[in-house]
Amino acid sequence: MNRLGCVRPTQRRRALWVRAVRRARPLAWATACLLACDSPTVVPAAFAYDPTSLTGGVRYRWSTNQRVRVFVEPTASGTQGDVRAAVERGVAQWNRVPRGDGFTLDVTSTRSNAHVVVFERATPLPLVPDAGCPFSPGSAGGYTYFCAAAGGRAATLRWSDGGAGVLSVAIRVDAGRADGQGGLDALVAHELGHAVGIGGHSDDSGDVMFPQPRVAAPSGRDTQTLRWLLGQSVQLIL
Ligand SMILES: [Zn+2]
Repeated sequence: MNRLGCVRPTQRRRALWVRAVRRARPLAWATACLLACDSPTVVPAAFAYDPTSLTGGVRYRWSTNQRVRVFVEPTASGTQGDVRAAVERGVAQWNRVPRGDGFTLDVTSTRSNAHVVVFERATPLPLVPDAGCPFSPGSAGGYTYFCAAAGGRAATLRWSDGGAGVLSVAIRVDAGRADGQGGLDALVAHELGHAVGIGGHSDDSGDVMFPQPRVAAPSGRDTQTLRWLLGQSVQLIL
């Protein structure tokens, strides 16, 4: 029996999704947090905002020391911004957070070894949604999707072209709703925050995990929340 936090035990599969709605706002970079002297082995006593508010109390993360490979679907250049550049910057931003034995993000150019796919709304859906979890981004500016399967693991998703792989997380972004490249950077960083374990939103606009993200660099509060999460037992491994 697969029991995930407050998820009903009879519910073997459950779509876990989080979304961000972009509005046209100028990018405001967060004040850089000085983290160099911050020990990654010390787990904060509390989170700054609840990292499970969107998952019904379910905590999730990657395996210990997991190298999480992120693949970016090719996107038409120009009008839709540069999703790949935003992903590369977002990956670098989250990798700067002291994480102890937590994940490391990498960008990969190989679909077959990717754990996460990021794609723009205009591209064909590159994955086959799990049968038990509807893929329903609606009009969200950003949408992060994964599906809890048996055994406390996320379901492995199939690629729509039939190729094999280890994919478990999909991120759809609507670049047309982002305010230029800076806004796209903030949106992608936000969704990557969901993909590394933050299943909640902040009410502080200075945080990447604010629902209408305006900054692309994790704040001290984002950092505290992620590090708290990584120090907890979890109900779901991605
Ligand atoms: Zn969100």
